[in-house]
Amino acid sequence: MTKKAIELHEVYKTFGRVEAVRQLSLTVMSGDILVLLGASGCGKTTLLRLIAGLEVPEGGKITLNEQVVFANGRWVEPEKRGLGMVFQDYALFPHMSIADNIAFPLHHATRAQKAERTAELLQLVGLEGLDKRFPHELSGGQQQRVALARALSARPSVILLDEPFSNLDATLRKTMREEVRRILQQTHTTAVFVTHDQEEAMAIGDQIAVMQSGQVLQVGTPQEVYLQPNSLAVAQFLGEVNLLDGVAHGDSVDCALGTLELYRPDHGQVCVLVRPESVRVSLGGEPNARVIGIQFFGFYQMLQCELQDGTRLFARTWAQTNVQVGTPIRLDARGKVTTSQSSPS
Ligand code: ATP
Repeated sequence: MTKKAIELHEVYKTFGRVEAVRQLSLTVMSGDILVLLGASGCGKTTLLRLIAGLEVPEGGKITLNEQVVFANGRWVEPEKRGLGMVFQDYALFPHMSIADNIAFPLHHATRAQKAERTAELLQLVGLEGLDKRFPHELSGGQQQRVALARALSARPSVILLDEPFSNLDATLRKTMREEVRRILQQTHTTAVFVTHDQEEAMAIGDQIAVMQSGQVLQVGTPQEVYLQPNSLAVAQFLGEVNLLDGVAHGDSVDCALGTLELYRPDHGQVCVLVRPESVRVSLGGEPNARVIGIQFFGFYQMLQCELQDGTRLFARTWAQTNVQVGTPIRLDARGKVTTSQSSPS
């Protein structure tokens, strides 16, 4: 049976009058990569620091690998929590070689053990042969790999990563995402990964916790939070979404795009959340809308459309050239949709 690697129960932390983390409960299963996703200031870094023991909560309980590290009267020092950390600025020791940086957490190992473990980790992160170099002699991506190797060297069961790729360019970020995911899976390491980039969150996470104002709005797989958001805020945070007025009747909802199937049953007046790629555009058939704007993004384009009743919505299509502003089109919805009781802001 899979074990719980991290359990937070009603954890609370303030800075003066700012409630950075509010009665937050969350579980991370062993071997999972959990992404904390949310806008700047929502409390992601504070939560990571609370898990690490770098901040002291005012209330709640934190359990790591079934050992209580914070609760009434109980406090385990950060260095005794068995965690690895990777920060956005790499935080390597500039005066130490790459090998010495990686071996740094291995305080009690012999010289031979350190050499063996360092060689193993250099291979894992694809930096064989660079052991004698110094951090300034490596690229940003290579430095971040060293930081990851150092965080993994003492074989922590949990690793915490705070926006580790934010200093890397877009292409390198994508490569590093895949690399880090592979390395964490290969080493069966549980990870908590902070980002405010929804694409990065979906690419790397087994689970995503969407945060707002110190609380978790929803936790689920990337597919769950993207396709079945539990609120308007989660839907909007994960990508573009059309908001249509509708009336729900259990498993279906009536709205300007017709009668659509629901992921979760609902009733009465609702706001229907329809992703732009769930709006099907066809040129044949009875037109019910026209194109009023086109944004071209290369591998796809976003059509702004207006239905005959005046409802406006976005449709994401492949970059076809036979659609122009003014073209009459047929719009339908594909797949199931979700609803929210809150009205659009
Ligand atoms: P970002 O994505 O910008 O790093 P975040 O989601 O990680 O943001 P936190 O850094 O956890 O957010 O901050 C949460 C809130 O707590 C913010 O309002 C922040 O200003 C406040 N805060 C964080 N650390 C401190 C501190 N040491 N002293 C005072 N306020 C703090």
